Amino acid sequence: MGLKEYHKKRDFKKTGEPRGNEKPSTSGRLYIIQKHAASRLHYDFRLELDGVLKSWAVPKGPSLDPTDKRLAVHVEDHPVDYGSFEGIIPKNEYGGGTVMLWDRGEWEPLGDPAEMYKKGDLKFALHGEKLQGTWALVRMSGKMSDGGKNWLLIKKKDDAARSKKDSEIVKEETRSVASGRSMDEIADAEDSVWKNGQAVSTQKKSKKKPAAAEDLPDPASLKGSKKAAWPKSVKPQLATLTQDPPAGDQYLHEIKFDGYRILCLLKDKKVKL
Ligand code: MN
Repeated sequence: MGLKEYHKKRDFKKTGEPRGNEKPSTSGRLYIIQKHAASRLHYDFRLELDGVLKSWAVPKGPSLDPTDKRLAVHVEDHPVDYGSFEGIIPKNEYGGGTVMLWDRGEWEPLGDPAEMYKKGDLKFALHGEKLQGTWALVRMSGKMSDGGKNWLLIKKKDDAARSKKDSEIVKEETRSVASGRSMDEIADAEDSVWKNGQAVSTQKKSKKKPAAAEDLPDPASLKGSKKAAWPKSVKPQLATLTQDPPAGDQYLHEIKFDGYRILCLLKDKKVKL
């Protein structure tokens, strides 16, 4: 297929996706899944073969249950450079929406990869950060095949397989392998605009220096403050054990980890911990 179709669908003046060329990665066997919140959420499953990423859009994402057959719609080849893309495709462009690098690693064909691909029966092992073990991508035949576009992604039975109730890895694993971010965090970040195939930070670097003690307000200027002797000791506020957390917007909840309390004191324009 090559990258013709990929280039035809995109305006590289508007989208930051890599233009790419047909060159293999160092391993030649890159495997990635991108979670893509386009008009419909889906998972783009990509395997490097012959210098491009063979690509399938999997609406429900992979399942670890070998009895699940997940529809995988074969789409245009993508450049290998695409394998490191995480960020935002502009709204009105092809595939506009947030892209997360959900998994990455290498794939290991269990047989001749070109031959298996041609036959529409790819068997392989995945060595990813989230997906492992043996898998198959099988081209459907007959009415359901949609001209050979419709394939099925199936987990093979092995140690990495899970039963139905534990099989929804896409619901358990919701963060990026590249940045640890959630979809919302990527969408908000504005740091993932691509220029010439490289992620460029558009976030303005803050010129603000951390506050120095002399910039801190003088406590004496605070309304209601009273001059007093420096305390000999300060009792830190302690957590109170209760059955239920208090409700209401005025509360923020966090898990309490045991550890040491640090008191921060400001005396004579000097901070003491
Ligand atoms: Mn996609």
